Amino acid sequence: MKYNDVRRNTRKVNVGSLTLGGDSPILIQSMTNTDPHDAEAIITQIKALKACGCDIVRITVPDLEAAEIITQIKSEVDIPLVADIHFDYKIAIRSAELGIDKIRINPGNIGDETKIKAVCDVCKERNIPIRIGVNSGSLEKSILKKYGSPTPEALAESALYNVSLLEKFGFYDIVISIKASDPKAMIEANRIVANKCDYPLHLGVTEAGSKEIGSIKSAVGIGSLLCDGIGDTIRVSLTDDPVEEISSAKKILGAVGIEGQSGLQIVSCPTCGRTKIDLISLVADFETAVKLNGLTDVPIKVAIMGCAVNGPGEAREADIGVAGGIGEAILFKKGEIIRKIPENTIVNTLIDEIKKYKN
Ligand code: SF4
Repeated sequence: MKYNDVRRNTRKVNVGSLTLGGDSPILIQSMTNTDPHDAEAIITQIKALKACGCDIVRITVPDLEAAEIITQIKSEVDIPLVADIHFDYKIAIRSAELGIDKIRINPGNIGDETKIKAVCDVCKERNIPIRIGVNSGSLEKSILKKYGSPTPEALAESALYNVSLLEKFGFYDIVISIKASDPKAMIEANRIVANKCDYPLHLGVTEAGSKEIGSIKSAVGIGSLLCDGIGDTIRVSLTDDPVEEISSAKKILGAVGIEGQSGLQIVSCPTCGRTKIDLISLVADFETAVKLNGLTDVPIKVAIMGCAVNGPGEAREADIGVAGGIGEAILFKKGEIIRKIPENTIVNTLIDEIKKYKN
């Protein structure tokens, strides 16, 4: 899929050195979970996230003391940072003064208009965008009363209400996120908002759960919207090491097939009575070898198929493929049969071919 052919037309918002929205790549985000006052721990985690492919990192800034370490963090990492702030506009202003690249705050919960204007003014002056983060667990009381529960319409109304509070002061460098733990509600709310404005959207299913179920819920929520061309940045929220979120996010982009961002894609059959090789071990060994050789980001499709019945079709469609026979496999490259290779050399042969493709 050429994502930009179906992509929702949004305005562009700069976040540090990166651009979000328009025809820019879909950016992957995560959030640190270390002590917000421990600069060294935050820096270590940010570096780990960046090393595995995170584009933007959000940090919790619960008080002014935590804001004061932004300068140190910024001096030691090279990735745009978002300050996650609730309720206190002074923390937002101080974070902006200290060089944060984006602020996540809901103007509806920081007080009167003078406070909202003060945040808008400092962000405008420093070209810092604001992400409005609507969450099903923290809707405005009046909106909750009107709808009775955090329905998609309620979530969308809250987002647009918060947008209006910034627009009132001529602030338009806005990114919107609407998250819910129910993927269906999150999908529907984002669709409503996508039709009503041109601000970039940050997608995520919140409180999605542990790695396996959280990744599945996120794939449903984020993936559905991306397939419709909606979404400019994503975060997979997992009850796990944040590094795992990046791996899941990349897999979602890969499954959606967004050009240039899919990384290495493995196509492998489910095995059946016709399977001629130990496909389950083979695919597991191949995945491990891909990681060990640092090849996960190579934009290549590799098919590993179990027999010569349906296998050759998929193997031909991939950039590189194998279709298993008894103790051997046929190697395909760009649709052409190259040669037969022994079963015990399949993993190494595929890795060598990927390295050649990469170079
Ligand atoms: Fe079975 Fe062959 Fe299909 Fe694999 S490719 S599931 S072995 S028929």
